[in-house]
Amino acid sequence: MDCPFCGGRMEECYLESNGFLYLTRMLHPVMGPAFASKGDKIARLNNRRDGTGIPVHICPSCRKVVFSY
Ligand SMILES: [Zn+2]
Repeated sequence: MDCPFCGGRMEECYLESNGFLYLTRMLHPVMGPAFASKGDKIARLNNRRDGTGIPVHICPSCRKVVFSY
C-alpha cells in the first residue's frame, strides 16, 4: 500500500494494546473508553477473537498510520 499522504511505501504491522482498542469522539482519561456513552463510541476495533491488536499500515517517511474500522 502506498501512503495516502506522501506516496511512500507503507509497511504492515500491528497496533497492539493490553485492553480493547476503541475509536471515540472524546477522550475518557479516568474511566477509559469502555464506559463511554453509545453516541460517543464510534467503534471497538478488536474483540477477543481478534486478539490483542489490529493490523495497520505505517509510513516510515511521514510516520502516519492507516487502518480500517
Ligand atoms: Zn507517508
